[in-house]
Amino acid sequence: MKRRTFIGSLLATSITGLAQARKPDRPRIAVVGAGAFGGWTALHLLRSGARVTLVDAWGPGHSRASSGGETRVIRFAYRSRIYVDMARRSAELWREASESWSQSLFTPSGVLFLYQKGPGSAFIEDARAHLADAGIDHERLSVDQLGIRYPQIDLDNIAGGLYEPDAGYLLARRACQAVLEAFVREGGEYRVAAVRPGSVNGQTMTPIRLSNGDRLAADQYVFACGPWLGALFPDVLSDVLTVSRQEVFYFGLPEGDRRYAAPDLPVWADFGERLWYGIPGAERRGFKIADDTRGPPLDPTNADRTASRAGAAAAMAYVARRFPGMRGAPLIEARVCQYTNTRDGDFIVDRHPAADNVWIAGGGSGHGFKHGPALGEMLAEQVLGLRDRKPVFGLGRFYQSGAV
Ligand SMILES: Cc1cc2nc3c(=O)[nH]c(=O)nc-3n(C[C@H](O)[C@H](O)[C@H](O)COP(=O)(O)OP(=O)(O)OC[C@H]3O[C@@H](n4cnc5c(N)ncnc54)[C@H](O)[C@@H]3O)c2cc1C
Repeated sequence: MKRRTFIGSLLATSITGLAQARKPDRPRIAVVGAGAFGGWTALHLLRSGARVTLVDAWGPGHSRASSGGETRVIRFAYRSRIYVDMARRSAELWREASESWSQSLFTPSGVLFLYQKGPGSAFIEDARAHLADAGIDHERLSVDQLGIRYPQIDLDNIAGGLYEPDAGYLLARRACQAVLEAFVREGGEYRVAAVRPGSVNGQTMTPIRLSNGDRLAADQYVFACGPWLGALFPDVLSDVLTVSRQEVFYFGLPEGDRRYAAPDLPVWADFGERLWYGIPGAERRGFKIADDTRGPPLDPTNADRTASRAGAAAAMAYVARRFPGMRGAPLIEARVCQYTNTRDGDFIVDRHPAADNVWIAGGGSGHGFKHGPALGEMLAEQVLGLRDRKPVFGLGRFYQSGAV
């Protein structure tokens, strides 16, 4: 891994700063939210020559944020081609970032999908076609091949598998912090404050209000506020977004036993009657598993984040059934996080329908983190007028269907 020297970093920073200082008419942009979506958007805007202020109420990857977990899966297998391409571009940017910031934010441990006949196999068929078309490395595995390669998995009712060797996991909150550090090093301004949107008059939003009483004026405002978006823009988003409670459990690995950690066991997902997935052994936290089924509504600011007994029992039962060598493993950590869901599972990356100088990025649900770099790049170019908006991420899709 290449390490940039201290003098090299200083030079690079001051050269970037100099280039930006010389550019006339640099637009001023305020980005609200330093999670995966906002942090990367702010960094791309800055690198494209804008003057950027990034504001967050609590800081990057804090414990209530959706980006605040230890780890997040990065995979290329999707049913929609747009996410395959975004995940691939993001993987490039995550790798570049890890190298230039000398931090291993991306571990390509591989990702294994197990599927049963039914909806799981439909996902695998669609994803496999996209992966083949995009030239992304993948391998179809029969039950016999799975049994030889992964003897630690009980393959009862599994019909087959798909393995992506270049996929893996990201260090989530550490990555948010690293993005912020790069943003500040390269000349961005960062403030800790809660933001209230300005008022909207004639398709324009007035300066945003910060919790310390300041007003922050910019040419354009980007709100990447994750599960808080619905409350910030109730007229536009309250019927579009739902926030669901999601529980994550970590079980203790057997002492010295590597069968349940990478490289012996990659990141995995099991498409059964529920979708369970796990990141084994990352950051020495134990055997992380979660159920992707949407939980009840959650208030991201005030929710009690104690995991439920029922959730822990279900996770324990699943682990015992699918990974019999882990039966009886102790629960060592549990977290409660939240998905911000759109009705169709696609993100929102669009202009506010009533304010031309306001942009909204959100709806990351259970798969947004990996896409932060590519989404930020796309949104930065849209804000700067260099790229068209994509209807698939547009708010118009909810209004057209008469859903809102
Ligand atoms: C349990 C769980 C597992 C997941 N697993 C994966 C996975 O494996 N792979 C994957 O790719 N994705 C995964 N996701 C989804 C992913 O984590 C999210 O889609 C992504 O983190 C969303 O990022 P965000 O920037 O939109 O939101 P957040 O990370 O929530 O960031 C929003 C930020 O906005 C700030 N903010 C909000 N309101 C204001 C305000 N008024 N003023 C100032 N600041 C404000 C908040 O403080 C916060 O920092 C998972 C999510 C969860 C909960």
